[in-house]
Amino acid sequence: MLSSATLAINEAVAARRAAGQETIHLGFGEASFPLHPLLRGALDEAAGQTGYAPVLGIAALREAIAGYLSRTRHLETTAAAIAVGPGSKPLIYALLHVLDGDLLLPAPSWVSYAPHARLAGKQVIGVATNDSDHHGLTPQALTGALSLARAQGADPRILIVNTPSNPTGGMFAQSDVEALAAWCRERGITLISDEIYAELAHGWREHVSPAAFYPEGCIVTGGLSKAFSAGGWRLGYAALPGGAAGARLMNALRALASEIWSSAATPVQAAAVAAYSSHPDLERYVQRAARLHGYAAHQLYETLITLGALCPRPAGGFYLYPDFAPWRSQLAALNIHTSDDLARYLLDEWDIATLPGSAFAEDPTALRLRLATSLLYAPLDASSPREHEAALWQLLDQTDTIVTTATGYTLTKPLALPALARAQARLAEFIHSLDRPTESNDLYKGSDHE
Ligand code: PMP
Repeated sequence: MLSSATLAINEAVAARRAAGQETIHLGFGEASFPLHPLLRGALDEAAGQTGYAPVLGIAALREAIAGYLSRTRHLETTAAAIAVGPGSKPLIYALLHVLDGDLLLPAPSWVSYAPHARLAGKQVIGVATNDSDHHGLTPQALTGALSLARAQGADPRILIVNTPSNPTGGMFAQSDVEALAAWCRERGITLISDEIYAELAHGWREHVSPAAFYPEGCIVTGGLSKAFSAGGWRLGYAALPGGAAGARLMNALRALASEIWSSAATPVQAAAVAAYSSHPDLERYVQRAARLHGYAAHQLYETLITLGALCPRPAGGFYLYPDFAPWRSQLAALNIHTSDDLARYLLDEWDIATLPGSAFAEDPTALRLRLATSLLYAPLDASSPREHEAALWQLLDQTDTIVTTATGYTLTKPLALPALARAQARLAEFIHSLDRPTESNDLYKGSDHE
C-alpha cells in the first residue's frame, strides 16, 4: 500500500523547497491559523497530566463534545455515545473494522476511506456522484450501486459521506441530507457522516447533519484539526447512535482502540474540553477562520470559472475541485491524459502542487484536481515564525471587512493575500497557455448560486 497521497505531496513540496525550488502549495489541506490562546493556556495547564486516559476519552471531554453537538448541530447525544481518539482518521478506520459489511463510497471521496476499508477487509463499492450538480449523491445512484454490488456478491452495509466535502468543497442541501438519511434507514445501512469541516461552512449553505434525521443508524465524526487549526494535536471524536446497538458498537470500538492507541494524549484531551465548551471568543475565532477560508476559496473559484474551467462553487472547508475537461485536446497534445499526468505537469512545469482526482477514488481519466487554499494566507516574506503568526492574527482580525453577498463576497477594505494572488496569477497563466477552451462550461454556471 502506498502512503497517503496528501502526506506524500506535502513531503514532495518540502523537498522542493529545501532544494530552493519555488512551489505554490495547493496540495495539502492543513488549517494553519495560530492556536487560540484559550487552548494554548489549557494545554499548558494540563501538561503535567502524564497518566494514560480512559480508552474512550476523559469524562469531561466526552461530556463537552456531547454538549457541543447538541448545541451546534441539534443532535440528541450523550457522553456515553462519544468516543474520543487520536484524530478522527483512526476512529474512522476503527469503525470500519468493527462494523459488518462492505462499504458504499461516493466518488470522489477523501483519500483515506478506501484504504481504510481495504485494510479492514472490506470491498469498496464506488457510487457515482452527479458531476453536473456539485457532485451530489442521489438515491437513484445509491440504489443502482447497491443492486449491482449485491448481484456481484458484495454485501454493502455502510455508507460514508462528508459534508462539507474534501475534495469538492461542496455541501449537501437539507433536502439531499433528508433523502440520504431516508435511503439508509429504509435499507438498514449504517451511515458514517464525516463532519470534520462542519464549522467551516462558508455561510451560503447551512450545514445539516444526517444524524438529525437518522439518529439510530448514523455515526458523526469530527475533531480539532480543521476548525481549531490543531491537526497536530491529534484529537478527534465519533458520536455513535444511542440504544443497545450503539452500545454494542461502542464496546467493539473500545476493545479495538485499547489494543491499538490506548487513548488520545491526556493533556490534549484536557485542553480540548475548552474547545468544545461555550466561549464567545473561541466561537468568533472559528467564524473568522471560516469566513477567510470562504473568501479565499471563492477568489480562486472565480479565477477558474472566469477562465473556462468547470468547478462547483465551494460551500465549506478550503478546497476546490476544478475539472480541466474543456482543454482535453490541448492537454492531450502535451501528452496529458489523466489527472495524475496533469498534477505532475503542473508541479514540474508550473511549480504548482495539487492532488489529482485519482487520489480521491475518481476515474483517473477525469481531468480533475483538488486544490487546497488553506496554506495561502501567510505573507510571502515573513522573516520569523513570530512575524508569520502575527500576520495571520492580523488577517483574522480583518475578516470583518469581508462581506458576503448573494453570489460571492465584497471587501469594505483591501485585504492583502499575496500567496493567494500569486496562485491565481499562476493558474491563469497556465490556463492561458492552453489556448481557448473547446467545450462549454455553462453546466455549472446556472446551478451554483442559491
Ligand atoms: N476526514 C476528512 C475529510 C479529512 O480531510 C481529514 C483530514 N485531512 C480527516 C477526516 C482526518 O482528520 P483528523 O484525523 O485530523 O481528525
